[in-house]
Amino acid sequence: MSANLTPRAKFATTLLKTAAALSRATGRGDGSVIGGRVGLIVEPRLLELLAEGRHVVLISGTNGKTTTTRFTTAAIEAIGKVATNSFGANMPTGHTTALAKAPKAEYAALECDEHYLGQLLDAANPKVVALLNLSRDQLDRAMEVTALAAKWRQTLQTSAGQSTIVANADDPLIVWAASVCPRVVWVAAGQSWTADSAICPNCGSHLDRFGEFWRCTNCGLNRPSPQWSVAQTGEAVVGPDGRRYELNLQLPGRVNRANAATALAIASLFGVDPGQAAPRLSEVASVAGRYAKVEREGRQLRLLLAKNPAGWLESFDMIEPNPPVVLSLNAREVDGFDTSWIYDVDFTSLAGRKVVVTGDRRTDLAVRLEVDGVDFIVVDDIKAAIAAVPPGPVEVVANYTAFQDIRAEFNRVN
Ligand SMILES: [Zn+2]
Repeated sequence: MSANLTPRAKFATTLLKTAAALSRATGRGDGSVIGGRVGLIVEPRLLELLAEGRHVVLISGTNGKTTTTRFTTAAIEAIGKVATNSFGANMPTGHTTALAKAPKAEYAALECDEHYLGQLLDAANPKVVALLNLSRDQLDRAMEVTALAAKWRQTLQTSAGQSTIVANADDPLIVWAASVCPRVVWVAAGQSWTADSAICPNCGSHLDRFGEFWRCTNCGLNRPSPQWSVAQTGEAVVGPDGRRYELNLQLPGRVNRANAATALAIASLFGVDPGQAAPRLSEVASVAGRYAKVEREGRQLRLLLAKNPAGWLESFDMIEPNPPVVLSLNAREVDGFDTSWIYDVDFTSLAGRKVVVTGDRRTDLAVRLEVDGVDFIVVDDIKAAIAAVPPGPVEVVANYTAFQDIRAEFNRVN
């Protein structure tokens, strides 16, 4: 921990906290990024120095990393204090701030942007690295996803050192990247989006799939046997010894049960008894507004964020079968200006229910639903959407800025 910091690192930490506090006081977010930036200017090795002597887990992947980090933090808190980064601050500036703010925490659970994994491996010397999944973002194409997997594979080979990898056995790109490491714990975390892994990342041949098993017809890359999995029945995780750990999650869907399985696998590597960790996961009710439930005019809205094609598919798996669904789509800079990716998402599961479409690009979404034979109505904004559905539960699915707009309407609900 930070007891042995050099005077320069201590000074950098003080400046970091001051900058973060100033940023908060002037209403510019929580100050994690600016604070970290200031600290790293004064002491470029600050992240490394602050991580020294702690037990660190890095959690990365396209989807689910924020939730898995929250679950992991809740699980490890059973045995000690955990430093963790605030939502969205998943680059080295945010990690530096997270560690600086929790000098006494023996453990650290750090969500890591996919492109910074190598840098964090070098700086934080993690005990565990969890790799969840890789799929395309709005702007990426499958080629770029494979390139990222190749970069991970190379970086793990050179920098993973003594780390144990917790990796998703159901994602061929993750398996290919992680299999260069000597110690891997495999989790059957599922893959709702298979379009980016139709071909073998190792040799480019066709991948055969039978049920949950997959295998390359040419080089033999295949699904490793998982030690951890989501139970086939009920809401539980099955551990390496076949023991079943019951879940009572507030967060919906199979995807979150898979995130829970990954968190329990990580926690057990830190010496936490999964039987003690599993009930703690039910404390997580929402994650930066995601899954939050808000009420207005007798409508109980549940807010689901879906940033990319895989996220949209996962959200359709999470929604309850009967309530009306509000879909909101924007295409501002962080969302990507091009909405053509919505044609990669299958919307047919929404057919037969009440669907309301809104957001800046509601007409794009309307055309897409028309193609999939889903009936819908189009409204101007979330207020009009609320008025358009009867009192009772409502599922709301939105992409990044559309989600932030809705969150703002409800006073930035967490
Ligand atoms: Zn192959």
